[in-house]
Amino acid sequence: MADIEVLGGGIFGLAIAWSLIERGAKVRLIEKRRPGAGASGGLLGALQPHVPDPWTPTKAFQRDALALHPDFWRKVAAVSGIDPGYRRIGRIMPLADEKAVALARSRADAAARHWEGCGCWRIVPAADFPGWAPPSPTGLLVHETFSARIDPARACMALARAIAARGGEIVTGEAGSGSVPLVDARGHEGLAALGRELGHTAGSGVKGQAALLEHKAEGMPQIFIRGLHVVPHPHGVAIGSTSEREWSHPRVDEALETLMARVREEVPVLTNAPVLARWWGIRPRAPHGKPLLGPHPARPGVFIANGGFKIGVGLAPLVGRLMADLVLDGRADIPAEFLPANALSPS
Ligand SMILES: Cc1cc2nc3c(=O)[nH]c(=O)nc-3n(C[C@H](O)[C@H](O)[C@H](O)COP(=O)(O)OP(=O)(O)OC[C@H]3O[C@@H](n4cnc5c(N)ncnc54)[C@H](O)[C@@H]3O)c2cc1C
Repeated sequence: MADIEVLGGGIFGLAIAWSLIERGAKVRLIEKRRPGAGASGGLLGALQPHVPDPWTPTKAFQRDALALHPDFWRKVAAVSGIDPGYRRIGRIMPLADEKAVALARSRADAAARHWEGCGCWRIVPAADFPGWAPPSPTGLLVHETFSARIDPARACMALARAIAARGGEIVTGEAGSGSVPLVDARGHEGLAALGRELGHTAGSGVKGQAALLEHKAEGMPQIFIRGLHVVPHPHGVAIGSTSEREWSHPRVDEALETLMARVREEVPVLTNAPVLARWWGIRPRAPHGKPLLGPHPARPGVFIANGGFKIGVGLAPLVGRLMADLVLDGRADIPAEFLPANALSPS
């Protein structure tokens, strides 16, 4: 008999189930397809802090989440026997002109103030990364050392295996039993269901696409250029992502080809890299674009964990911890703006 049920086996549901088990709870995770079948089972895995200036409570939340990853995955890997590919590889960003260089320099101070020693932000010559750095008109790059990468699909697999190894149940199904507390972590489908239940929008699904290219760049930092992510993994280089708010076809399409054409132009080292895999997923976006974490606004004993949107993999360890605090202790240090009762209003 489970003490708690978790509905949805994406990175949120899995991290919550794992955190509950770590705290001694008996957990049943109910997944309608298979763990990692939704947005979480992708291939990009960029774990990047937001720029450190201006600083906001949401950025502080994300910093705290990113800081938990090394210990979180070390333990999951040890229990599951599966390496989720977590590695702090850092990130480089070309600087287009003198204005960008000045802004980047000012952000070095902000990073030192706000990142609490998790990494530094420096301006370096592009020549520091020969054979990898994209062209930078100023010859300079930002190099920050807080960013990491993970293989999201393997991370889901490792969590599912670790949950099972610690006695958690993972079953196929589409609803909770109604007899124990339930954490609803159904991703974009959960937002749609919540909207139907409340009679007004609770968010939507935003389609995204990514690809894996054949190229060896292990040991190199990820690259970020105006919304484009280029992330080295042991088995290739992932690129992402498109973002489609309006979509009718859940499959890869020409938007990914456009993104790949941009990569081939802006990251010359990848110009001739063959495509190993193409992938799409639907990101869960709450109305305010921020996480949605806390008690269901109308149903006692039901908790919502959703709204990971573009950074859900990065937030997962902290989401797991806070939701376990909330369900087991009745309270958690969740920012007020993330609480469903505050974030979801009819207007
Ligand atoms: C192209 C792309 C690239 C991305 N890149 C990054 C990145 O680099 N870094 C990052 O941090 N984030 C990234 N994200 C965002 C991240 O993937 C999401 O924020 C995160 O996966 C959301 O996790 P989730 O568990 O809430 O949802 P999901 O992973 O979608 O999980 C929801 C689960 O619930 C299940 N489900 C649905 N209905 C039911 C039901 N009735 N009963 C039982 N189960 C149900 C689904 O099958 C699914 O497995 C990316 C997303 C996309 C699409």
